[in-house]
Amino acid sequence: MIQDKLKLEIRDIVDFPKPGIVFKDITPLLKDAALCSEMVDAIIDQLQGIEIDAIAGIESRGFLFGFLLANRLGLPFIPIRKQGKLPFKTVSESYALEYGQATIEIHEDAFEKGSRILVHDDLLATGGTVVAASKLIERLGGEIVAYSFIISLDFLKAKGRLSRFSDNIFSLVSY
Ligand code: 5GP
Repeated sequence: MIQDKLKLEIRDIVDFPKPGIVFKDITPLLKDAALCSEMVDAIIDQLQGIEIDAIAGIESRGFLFGFLLANRLGLPFIPIRKQGKLPFKTVSESYALEYGQATIEIHEDAFEKGSRILVHDDLLATGGTVVAASKLIERLGGEIVAYSFIISLDFLKAKGRLSRFSDNIFSLVSY
């Protein structure tokens, strides 16, 4: 089972990026090309029957599998980035962090109105990041048809925050 392989490779880093946080580190997965390919296959299996026009990935770990997935499906990839990184005209959305706030941006011509968008990120924690990304996509006239994550931290109960955009919420492993 791919879940078992992933759980063996994903490592917990205690007190990163600050004391009290246990960070799920996916970098060991990236060394195993065959496993990465298997992961893309498993994500595609989960998405069977969902019509998708483009895949939006969130900086920066959402770019890793988001782009692989888009490329394998022959779909456009849309980067959603932290403020000040995208070179063309952008729309932006701010969201609350535990302390302070963060802002993410998308190019205003990222996709055509009415496009069916899959949102991908490496990990779902509180859901703040993907909710902000979802608002950006809706502001540009996109429809969110599914979410895909490598890891979902289910004990944080973020899926309820996403269901107002789409009920198709997938992850390869959950904790
Ligand atoms: P949320 O906004 O859902 O609280 O946090 C998810 C975002 O923070 C994702 O973009 C994810 O990359 C990052 N993140 C938060 N905690 C972790 C973690 O333990 N491991 C990894 N790889 N990313 C994390």
